[in-house]
This record gives sequence, C-alpha cells and structure tokens, in this order.
Amino acid sequence: MILIVAEHADGKLAKATLEMVTAARGTGREGPITILVLGQNVAGVASEAAAVADQVLVADSAGLAQYSAETWAAAVAQIAQEGEAHTVITPGSRSGREYAPRVAVKLDAPYLEDVISLSGSGAGLQAQRYTYLARVTETVEAEGAVTVISAKPGSFAPAAPAAAAGEQYDVDLELPQSRVTITGKSMEKSSRVALSEADVIVTGGRGVGNAENFSKFVEPLADNLGAGVGATRAVVDAGWRPYAEQVGQTGKTVQPKAYIALGVSGAVQHLSGMGKSKFIVAINKDAEAPIFKVADYGIVGDVNEIVPALIEASKR
Ligand code: FAD
Repeated sequence: MILIVAEHADGKLAKATLEMVTAARGTGREGPITILVLGQNVAGVASEAAAVADQVLVADSAGLAQYSAETWAAAVAQIAQEGEAHTVITPGSRSGREYAPRVAVKLDAPYLEDVISLSGSGAGLQAQRYTYLARVTETVEAEGAVTVISAKPGSFAPAAPAAAAGEQYDVDLELPQSRVTITGKSMEKSSRVALSEADVIVTGGRGVGNAENFSKFVEPLADNLGAGVGATRAVVDAGWRPYAEQVGQTGKTVQPKAYIALGVSGAVQHLSGMGKSKFIVAINKDAEAPIFKVADYGIVGDVNEIVPALIEASKR
C-alpha cells in the first residue's frame, strides 16, 4: 500500500494531505492509497480523508493529542510494517520533515526530502526536487522495497474526491513515551486565510514601496478578494512583513488558483515558490521584469496608480 500521513489542524484536514494524495496517485504504484490519521478527537478529519483515499486508518488516543517526532515516527513505522507499505509519504511541513527521516531509519529505507514531483516505473520511484537555490531541479531515483518521501507543500494539485469514500478502520498502536513536551504556544492572530490554504494570493514585492503601502494597497485588495497576503524575501528582509508570508525557495511554496504579484521582479527564488499557480497576474512598471515571463496577464504600470483602481473594482 501507499501510506500517507495526514496533516491536520483544528479538526480540519489540511490541503497538504490532498496534495499528497495527488503525489501518491502520480506514482502509478499498486495497492490502496491509505491515509493514516494520528491525533485525538480526529473523527471529523478521518471522514474528510475518506473522501479522497481508498482507506483511512485512524489512531485516536490521548497519547497522540500532542505532536512529537518520536511518537509520530514510531506510529508511522509500525503501520508501514504491518501494512507492508512500499511508499510512505509525509507532509513537507516542519514536523513532517522532522519525523520522516526517523521513519526511514526504522524501516531501513531511502528517504527523499521535499519532492516536487513523483513518478514510478518498475520497482523504482523517480522524484524531482530543487537544489542550488532552486536554480536546478534534480531527478532522483530510489530503489528498495520501501521508500519514505516528504512532499513539498504547494507542489502538487489538491486531489479531488474519489468516486466512493474509502473505508475507515481504527488502529491500536504501541507508542513510546515522548521525551519532548510542548509547554506553550503563541500564535499570530489573523482573520485572513493562511497562504497554504488560500485559493487566491496577493503578494507584494519591493515595488510596493514601504510597509505602509502594504496596508494601503496589498491588504485591502486581498481582503476584498478573500485572499491570503504574500511577500517577497526583499520585503521580509526589510521588515515590512513577517516571514510567515514569504513566498519562495526559502519561504512557502504555493499553488493557488490565482496569484497576483504587485511590484515583484520575479527572481528565480520567488518563482520556485509560486510558478505552479494556475493563473498569474503581474503588475510591474518594468516591462522587462522576469515575472512577466510566467504571468498569464501582465500590466506594465505603477502599483500606486493601478492598485487603487483594482481595490475599487474588487468591491463590486
Ligand atoms: P526587487 O527585485 O527589488 O523587485 C522590485 C520590482 O518592483 C522591480 O521589478 C521593479 O520594476 C518593480 N517596481 C518598483 N517600483 C514599482 C512601482 N511603483 N510599480 C510597479 N512596479 C514597481 N526571494 C523571494 O521572494 N522568496 C524567497 O524565498 C527567496 N529565497 C532566496 C534564497 C536565496 C538563497 C537567495 C540568494 C535569494 C532568495 N530570494 C528570495 C531573493 C530573490 O533573489 C530576490 O532578491 C527577491 O525575490 C526580490 O524581491 P522583489 O521582487 O520584491 O524585489
């Protein structure tokens, strides 16, 4: 079987899980696509997962209330062994990339980190991933009975529901006691949709001018469109926006239905994070800016003049 470890938060299945299902379907490998849901009170998450998977394994217990790499790795390895999984896919989130190598060690399997595409032929599994600051995309092949993979979020389209919902099965696991406890969490409060979940993203680059202009141009346009707000690294480095909004090689990879880039040059490190967006609109005063090479619609002009008109239009 192909074993996918569900990513979820606040009782909801994350888009990253649907992306992993697409990655799994792309391998063409045999066996049921199985989603493993780990956590406590995860019945709702399991039902959402059943819509896209052949089967869902649910480990719902107090011992899984809090994420820990030790516990997650033990749980995933145990299920992979019992179910004779040949492919294990974890999210490329911070936690996914933390426990996936531990799973690989437990299974004595090769590990492919942060893959952006997957395909299968024969016994081997081919994957692509970025290297050299995303200037190079390398193709790698893993051999062996089992391969462990983490899928870079935003690199695969979210899977559509299957014709019929998969069966759900409860599983009991022997879990080790975690030696790490999360003792506190402070979260940035935002009513805006998270970048990883957004269907529309409005991103501002250095061409927006300054931090105040983000409040004047980028945020109102995003709010009128129900969109997430993104930023380039230049903007984050300047302290205009938080790192959580950075899109690109050293930020988030996104694949929204629409990506609106305001005053963004389109450096290769930025394109590697948003180049797979379905529809790209760019506004830049430099007609030669590289962003226009990937844009479906381009407007050559000043964001200070064009964006206020867009904000007015988006109110209607
Ligand atoms: P600039 O390159 O300065 O472009 C500003 C653009 O705005 C220009 O095209 C200009 O014509 C236009 N402009 C100016 N004024 C106006 C106006 N009034 N109206 C309309 N247009 C205007 N970058 C990322 O974004 N994400 C990453 O994750 C990332 N990771 C990196 C990792 C490494 C290792 C390195 C070396 C770099 C990385 N970068 C990343 C940086 C990247 O190379 C670029 O420097 C950065 O993306 C540029 O940001 P920008 O487009 O906002 O700024």
